Amino acid sequence: MNNKPIEILKTVFGYDKFRGQQQDVIEQLIAGQDALVLMPTGGGKSLCYQIPALIRPGVGIVISPLIALMQDQVSALLQLGVKAAFLNSTLSLEESRRIEQQLLNGELDLLYIAPERLTSARTGALFERIKIALFAIDEAHCVSQWGHDFRVDYLQLSLLHERFPDIPRIALTATADDKTREEIKLRLNLEQAQLYLSGFDRPNIRYRIVQKQNARDQLIDFIRAEHTGDAGIVYCLSRKKVDATAEWLRTKGVNALPYHAGMDAGLRAKHQHQFLMEEGLVIVATIAFGMGIDKPNVRFVAHLDLPKSVEAYYQETGRGGRDGLPADAWMAYGLQDVITLRKMLQDSNADEAHKRIEYHKLDAMLALCEQVHCRRQALLGYFGDLLEQPCGNCDTCLEPVNTWDGTVAAQKALSCIHRTQQRYGVGYLIDVLRGKATERIVKAAHDKLSTFGIGVDIEEQQWHSVFRQLVARGLVAVDFDRFGALQLTESCRPVLRGEQQLMLRKDLKAEKVKGSKKTG
Ligand code: ADP
Ligand code: ZN
Repeated sequence: MNNKPIEILKTVFGYDKFRGQQQDVIEQLIAGQDALVLMPTGGGKSLCYQIPALIRPGVGIVISPLIALMQDQVSALLQLGVKAAFLNSTLSLEESRRIEQQLLNGELDLLYIAPERLTSARTGALFERIKIALFAIDEAHCVSQWGHDFRVDYLQLSLLHERFPDIPRIALTATADDKTREEIKLRLNLEQAQLYLSGFDRPNIRYRIVQKQNARDQLIDFIRAEHTGDAGIVYCLSRKKVDATAEWLRTKGVNALPYHAGMDAGLRAKHQHQFLMEEGLVIVATIAFGMGIDKPNVRFVAHLDLPKSVEAYYQETGRGGRDGLPADAWMAYGLQDVITLRKMLQDSNADEAHKRIEYHKLDAMLALCEQVHCRRQALLGYFGDLLEQPCGNCDTCLEPVNTWDGTVAAQKALSCIHRTQQRYGVGYLIDVLRGKATERIVKAAHDKLSTFGIGVDIEEQQWHSVFRQLVARGLVAVDFDRFGALQLTESCRPVLRGEQQLMLRKDLKAEKVKGSKKTG
């Protein structure tokens, strides 16, 4: 067998060339040196340690905190004929013993292990008796207390180096900010390691986030105008919506198939297979779809619902344009998305600290949606990857966003919420502002309020945009126990008192957002 990395890439993994810095990293490890690899999700981190583990004598030990992924990786490797196994808490004592025996017999190329297991005396003694090719520390940001994935067991990993100083180590993560990076180096004793920082930019993806009006119609317009016959992914939040959207697209002549975890496993696998093998298929899916999907010519990724975080958005949109040819990341976003996600968060069983982090993540995602400057700069900035100039390939670059002084409009909206006792949703409030004497409004005597009709100068659609931005910026909160009633928050006071100017996005009308060129 030829032991060159490129040969292994071809014969074992079935790919013809390395991506990005993979080859450099691999050679560094083969030479017995340490590496710290920062690469976006989907960038191809696994091969960076899998190939050296196959080339260097002994077994590669991979420390991974994600038990579910461990299992997946090992089964994928076994299918490729790589002798891999894992040790974690899901195994019975007997199974563990069997794998330990395999290790002692030198029968394994790769061993995935949970961090808590690694630091036990038993494992330590076992490692003393076997030949180790390398240590790979996956999800290395778990060692950082600054991050949200901190795991105490990761702190113990610095002991590896003390105990086995001659064995090369590679730490990998998709979290690129400076603070995390420095903490990884310090805590894992990797100051001397070569740093491999891959850019997070995907220049061929054009980012576009449009204001939601009738999302389905907007979607079909987008597909017809720019992606007839192309392969694409449409993400929706719920299974029900996935089914309905796929069905609807088919009636519109788009070759669309649904994919979600609630479907029969056989049918789901069939749809995934069809998507990979056939041309021009559109898959409508929940986020269950995509893990490990590597179809090169996905020409668009559309979101009908807002992702929960910027990381999720980056990862999902990143499934487009893997072949380097132009691809679109298109999303329709509206107030209801914000409300739905905030409600899901509020109703989740997560503890308070965890919820707080999730709220922050959602806020960062909202900030990206409400961006008035280059979206790519904002997106990359979130990952600590600086882009010097506006990209020229996102909606805000192609059609600069106008802002307007929304201070007075916001004051009207806020007073209207106040005067109606913070008990109503956005549709009702807009009716009051625009002076619509509906039955409900008359019954509540809200047509007698001073705020009744003070907003006729602004169209209904624009009021929606104002309310959405007020909620996105946290000036207004949504009360889920009261059917989405809007409420004032502390931070709206400076605006209400006229101490703070509020510049708002002027959302483009739907017709103008179609395509990247101005239509008139
Ligand atoms: P990460 O761990 O960085 O998220 P993975 O290692 O899971 O990424 O790789 C993401 C996908 O890219 C996988 O499907 C993998 O098989 C594929 N991949 C990795 N390297 C290459 C390559 N050199 N050529 C083609 N596909 C690759
Ligand atoms: Zn841009």
